[in-house]
Amino acid sequence: MLSALLLLVPLAAATAQALPDPIPSPLEETVSRTILPGNDFFAYANGRWLDATTIPAGKERWAARNDIDEVTRRRVAVLLDDARKAPFGSVARKVADYRAAWLDEGTIESKGIAPLRPALDSIDRVRDKAALTALLGRGIRADVDPLNWAVYRSASILGLSVEPSVHGEKTYVAFLLQGGLGLADRDQYLGSDSASRMLRTQYQEYVAALLKLAGFDRSSERAAKVLALETAIAETQGTRAATANDHNADHLWTRADFTRQAPGMDWTAFFAAAGLAKQGTFVAWQPSAVKGVAALVASQPIDAWQDYLRFRLLDENADVLPRAFAEAAATMHAAAGDLSAAGPRAQRALDATQLAMSDAIGRMYAERYFPVEQKRRVERIVANVAAAFVKRVEAATWMSPATKAIALVKLKTLYVGIGYPEHWQDFSDLKVDPRDAIGNRRRAVDRAWRRALSRLGKPVDMHEWWIAPQTVGGVLVFQQNAYDFPAALLQAPKFDSAASDAASYGAIGTIIGHDLSHYVDLLGAEYDSTGAMRHWWTRDDSLHFQTLAEPLIQQFSGYHPFADASVDGRLTETENVADLAGLRAAFDAYRLTLGTRASDPAFVRQQDREFFIAFAQTIRAKLSDQAMRTQLTNDHAPETYRTATVRNIDAWYEAFNVTPGQKLYLAPAARVRIW
Ligand SMILES: [Zn+2]
Repeated sequence: MLSALLLLVPLAAATAQALPDPIPSPLEETVSRTILPGNDFFAYANGRWLDATTIPAGKERWAARNDIDEVTRRRVAVLLDDARKAPFGSVARKVADYRAAWLDEGTIESKGIAPLRPALDSIDRVRDKAALTALLGRGIRADVDPLNWAVYRSASILGLSVEPSVHGEKTYVAFLLQGGLGLADRDQYLGSDSASRMLRTQYQEYVAALLKLAGFDRSSERAAKVLALETAIAETQGTRAATANDHNADHLWTRADFTRQAPGMDWTAFFAAAGLAKQGTFVAWQPSAVKGVAALVASQPIDAWQDYLRFRLLDENADVLPRAFAEAAATMHAAAGDLSAAGPRAQRALDATQLAMSDAIGRMYAERYFPVEQKRRVERIVANVAAAFVKRVEAATWMSPATKAIALVKLKTLYVGIGYPEHWQDFSDLKVDPRDAIGNRRRAVDRAWRRALSRLGKPVDMHEWWIAPQTVGGVLVFQQNAYDFPAALLQAPKFDSAASDAASYGAIGTIIGHDLSHYVDLLGAEYDSTGAMRHWWTRDDSLHFQTLAEPLIQQFSGYHPFADASVDGRLTETENVADLAGLRAAFDAYRLTLGTRASDPAFVRQQDREFFIAFAQTIRAKLSDQAMRTQLTNDHAPETYRTATVRNIDAWYEAFNVTPGQKLYLAPAARVRIW
């Protein structure tokens, strides 16, 4: 059973009332011929899609986005296959060679661990704490991103990110985050439950196995020491909850703070080795972890650190070491919760290539699959939806004038990037050898590091992108007052370049309207137009907003997919308000595209239907009962109820002959209007 709405409609009632005539549009292909739109709009608009769609084995849900994901994955694979014929030295060829080296298991097998020999030798040469400090400093990575992607842990003992912070800074800020653990989370080291204990036993055996494969004696003894050191590191690390808090950006440490607050390590030597000698301040995102590293450098014996570093090196490179290493690592990391670890090698090779050269692949993707006319079309839709939403904000009477002024500045200065970034990265400094997977990996890591260092002290580019064009998603960058909308998401049914205006505004237009509203709603109220974290709603604004939103909260809490479970109207409030805002703004903008034909009621009614059906199709999804239950704990309500938001729009009633007595019917006074 997908939704109670469906069940509660007696079939006789559905057939007694007339279904709307089909519209002359390809959208009609998925529309149900039996369900009345006024009873279950989601099932009406997506009926035949729901009938034809099977949730793949091993999955609990299948949505429009999954289809887009599959198409995108195939497109990227084709790009990489074609790139094998690109001229040697070109960026496309580097991308192809990176993946080829990764997949060349024969060469990987024949080289053994020889490519890691220089790195293992430098670990062997560590004789004192000064050398250890320098080695740790040289090893730190630019592989974290706390504010955009919630990447809070590094592969290295500390990880660096150089990005805009949350106080409206004009230059990039250096962030240091915790890292250096082989398991996914500190709790896996510290948990006393049996699952955690079993995982640790398996992990210790894995550490021993890798060290043994690499030729180290006393591997079990060494593994015990490695686990002990990692556990000590885990004890100093921030918890998941403490870490996932943007206010950690307030922990701005000067170099003197490191010496004073994190004794035990020569921080000057550490930063010098890292190439950060001139950097005066860092955000210590998890201060306890920074203190922990220094204290453990002081307290733990050199040989424990050496075995730890040897193991970390092997573990991180396991996928590009001989098969015995790769298989052991895949089993271990899958057990620790990394679902991609046990995936097919071809997929892991693609993932690794994306990680190393994401921007280069994005450029290839955009050039082939997102022609400039499509970009221009979406940009026009964005401009029109934004203008419509601005009008609604201007007309809102619940916001105080001062608050409204800030909201309008935010919207009018918002940068919306469509398809791909304004600048592409330069990969000319990256050497890729089709027979050297480990070397390629190291050079890609080094390149990311050089790129991070080169940004220190530079002015923030408020138009910088934080998502690759081939990513099926979007990102709200409040600290830049920016919104990135990648090419990969701009595919049917979310965006179809051949669709009518009505269908386009119903689909991509409503998504854009939804996201634009987040910049001035409860989420956006935490950041001003300069990107500074500053709550700019007054207490009265919040009260007025809550009063207006309350009926929508009640509306959603009234949806009961199961006898014992309902939607949580409060948990989903922000997203539901955004859906409503998106629908209203996109609808206004679409109606303006009608021009002189707006005076033809039959035409308008048909176009309105296209608009609403397209909206329902963009978020179509088929859920198992289990997935439906899981979705009830998410801040996005199940798609069937999100779609029902149309019941708050007057035009929807006219377009589909929705009358009192039908399941979704709301009396005009009960229809919610916030923006
Ligand atoms: Zn949202």
